[in-house]
Amino acid sequence: MTVKLESRCILCVRKAIEEKYCKYHYEALQSLRVHYEIWKSRYGKISWHDYLRRLKKIKYTGKWVKEVIEVELKMCKK
Ligand SMILES: [Zn+2]
Repeated sequence: MTVKLESRCILCVRKAIEEKYCKYHYEALQSLRVHYEIWKSRYGKISWHDYLRRLKKIKYTGKWVKEVIEVELKMCKK
């Protein structure tokens, strides 16, 4: 893990604390990862990309999470 002092969150103006996200967006990413494990145990095999695409359509997905999903989806594209 390398964090530069001047680095900013990829999604907002806050300081990045982990990877490329600020505290709030990183928390959103962490909750996405936790839920991914739950989804896999419940629905069987699902790729990270498919999981994110499905989650994006769910209305009650929070704002922070939705923003992180957008970034992660872009990075998944090959
Ligand atoms: Zn942020």
